[in-house]
Amino acid sequence: MSSANSLPALRTQPKAIFFTDFDGTITLQDSNDWMTDNLGFGTELRKKGNADVLFGRRSFRDSFQDMLDSVKTPFDQCIAHLLKNIRLDPCFRDFFQWCRANNVPVVVLSGGMQPIIRALLAHLLGEKEVEEMQIVSNNVKARPAMSINEEGGWDIEYHDDSSFGHDKSLEIRPYAALADRPIMFYAGDGVSDLSAAKETDLLFAKAGRDLVTYCENEKVPFTVFNDFSDIQKIVTDVVEGRISVQEAATGRN
Ligand SMILES: [Mg+2]
Repeated sequence: MSSANSLPALRTQPKAIFFTDFDGTITLQDSNDWMTDNLGFGTELRKKGNADVLFGRRSFRDSFQDMLDSVKTPFDQCIAHLLKNIRLDPCFRDFFQWCRANNVPVVVLSGGMQPIIRALLAHLLGEKEVEEMQIVSNNVKARPAMSINEEGGWDIEYHDDSSFGHDKSLEIRPYAALADRPIMFYAGDGVSDLSAAKETDLLFAKAGRDLVTYCENEKVPFTVFNDFSDIQKIVTDVVEGRISVQEAATGRN
């Protein structure tokens, strides 16, 4: 069993921990969707795949595998495309600085691939900032007898054996199980967040995205956000004791 000593986000004895999705949450565009839409089988099939997962017809793992299998572009070229096309939520930098100043660890839980996330964050936020951040995600591997930087040469390496590929609840649960623990937040936008949605004290779901639909269908308490300034206001109010997490979970309103 995990003890408080072995959980990385407890090292500084924080009052709160901020878990967050990466793609489409910290960034404005989802990098895997972008690759699928522009380098792989296209938007229409990708959206059909997302809907199949959202309504329980297929696992995230299988649908995501199909998306990425359709991208044959060498991995280094994929990263170069993404660095040119993916932007950061304009308010994330301020939020991240607030978290650092207030001892709130930011833990990235992603269904994306580690080298892409690190390259994008280093580019958009800064090398030093990224080094400090805990990022738990899937990875990339070479296909047999190939290199990741040749045509059709890379494949996703999943974090675990779950139907999510990366079951985000695995990282969150040991914290949730502690008797005396920090307040736990989670921010996300889509189908890769379903495994985490029920695990924290307050869930932020991005306005207009699939996670909002899921939370309403499953009766999971949440609050919507448009950008990280919305999140920062509420996290500040909760951490400073002005409102409770229950009061903050206002759904779409
Ligand atoms: Mg996302």
